[in-house]
Amino acid sequence: MSENSLGGKVTGVNGNMVSVAFTDRVTQNEVAYVVTGDKARLKSEVIRVRGREADIQVFESTAGVKIGDDVEFTGQMLSVELGPGLLQQVYDGLQNPLPELARQAGYFLKRGLYVYPLDREKAWDYTPVAKVGDTLRAGDTVGTVPEGIFTHRIMLPFAWDGEWKITWAIGAGSHPITTVVAKASNGAEEREITMVQTWPVKIPITSYQEKLLPREPLVTQVRIIDTFFPVAKGGAFCTPGPFGAGKTVLQHSLSQRSEVDIVIVAACGERAGEVVEILREFPHLEDPRTGRHLIDRTIIICNTSSMPVAAREASIYTSVTLAEYYRQMGLSVLLLADSTSRWAQALREVSGRLEEIPGEEAFPAYLESLVASFYERAGLVLLNDGNQGSITICGAVSPAGGNFEEPVTQATLKVVGSFLALSRDRANARRYPAIHPLDSWSKYNSLVAQDKVQEARAMLRAGHEVDQMMKVVGEEGTPTSDFVTYLKSEFIDSVYLQQNTFDKVDSSCGAKRQEYVFDKLLGVLRKSFNFPGKNEARAYFQHLRQRFLDWNYAAWESEAFQEAEAKIDEMLASQA
Ligand code: ADP
Ligand code: MG
Repeated sequence: MSENSLGGKVTGVNGNMVSVAFTDRVTQNEVAYVVTGDKARLKSEVIRVRGREADIQVFESTAGVKIGDDVEFTGQMLSVELGPGLLQQVYDGLQNPLPELARQAGYFLKRGLYVYPLDREKAWDYTPVAKVGDTLRAGDTVGTVPEGIFTHRIMLPFAWDGEWKITWAIGAGSHPITTVVAKASNGAEEREITMVQTWPVKIPITSYQEKLLPREPLVTQVRIIDTFFPVAKGGAFCTPGPFGAGKTVLQHSLSQRSEVDIVIVAACGERAGEVVEILREFPHLEDPRTGRHLIDRTIIICNTSSMPVAAREASIYTSVTLAEYYRQMGLSVLLLADSTSRWAQALREVSGRLEEIPGEEAFPAYLESLVASFYERAGLVLLNDGNQGSITICGAVSPAGGNFEEPVTQATLKVVGSFLALSRDRANARRYPAIHPLDSWSKYNSLVAQDKVQEARAMLRAGHEVDQMMKVVGEEGTPTSDFVTYLKSEFIDSVYLQQNTFDKVDSSCGAKRQEYVFDKLLGVLRKSFNFPGKNEARAYFQHLRQRFLDWNYAAWESEAFQEAEAKIDEMLASQA
């Protein structure tokens, strides 16, 4: 308990919500600790202040908390530690390192046990950048340390206002993160700079010149995304879909193949088994970009459905704050949140306990603004040094029954630039990834020219209409020309929209390859075939489809790739 912290007494307990009477001053969102009879200190956050009473949300089980128990207020907002050593970590929503906790406590999360987020012992090879006499602003580089494949920048703390002159700087050397590496003065006071700083998670870091409009595509190597429903570097997108439609598998694939520097996985409120699987698998996954391990440039934040609901909200803010930190180093960061619906459910639970006036489906009335403020932390920014950094956010949404009319999906689609609707029907038909080509949309730029994409989409719609019609009049009642339209749309689907995420080759379709294959595909769509009848048309497309699939499974520009292409060209030429 710090000297100037203030105290209070528990007056009521309602689940994770505890009301506290206090005598001095308490501020919204400050961190408090409930001290139980057996001296456990339970971390909490002030979520409402009314007169001399505060409602605090305890991030752990409140079993055993009694009326009259002491509460300590810290005056500090819920914050994270930022510094070298974040990469490869697995944290809970409060930035407790999970492997470390497991080692100390023997199992996940013993109540009231908190561990430093960053290793205090490990030494880092520090190289000073700013010299004595240099003037720096928040976010400017003081020095660097190597972290994995990146140059990690030690920056002037984001919370420091105005200009600071370096008055002392340490030489190059190996030091732990708490070493004072520089001192700086703003004229009024001198402060020390170490390799670690803290930042309140609910406030965006804004130490940059300006936000830029995201234009450059973020290549995910998933064809249906990059070509049809692209995502921009610095943009926001979502993957809504019913249970089992493939949201988690898709995010997993995005984490491995997207062309970004850093990946932050926020497993929020999903089943523990699934999360454990991620933790078991991730450290061993090879990084297709570096040949090393994917975990070397990944941070995992998990709050499973078996952990306290209260820390779920924190896990969303913690993950986006860590993303902002690496963005400040001029890196591109992808944040994958699975699932934002679980986060919204936690908000609903809290709001209910506070007896606030409920909005639609009992979600709080401010749901929309909270969802918006999360996705707004995505962005492409121009940093003070002229470099650019980006955060791209992908949120999975899991509406009950896959009903997109519900509040969380609706709040999300207002703020994202790309909406990848996963469909139960497509998943049932094992058409993976089950992103629906007619229900999805994107406002971002594709790798492929817009008019070409429109052409393919028009063909998909036309094929869908023929399909609907055939359900009424049957195949016999459908003219062969219409039937060919249908076959063409099925062809796009099976050889381009569908992609095998578990195949070493097909799972990763780079930008060049997509453009190349898409042009060939367009050649097929534009061709006016002259089939004697539907059976001949069907047989031809079945055959052509097989050739294209062979092509998809052949490594880019390999001998097999060229052979497969030659066979396709031959088939197309035979139908002059
Ligand atoms: P959700 O997260 O939407 O509930 P999952 O991503 O866990 O769904 O997927 C559920 C199951 O569907 C997976 O375990 C897998 O069997 C199957 N599946 C999902 N996506 C794919 C895919 N791209 N390829 C093959 N099977 C998939
Ligand atoms: Mg899932």
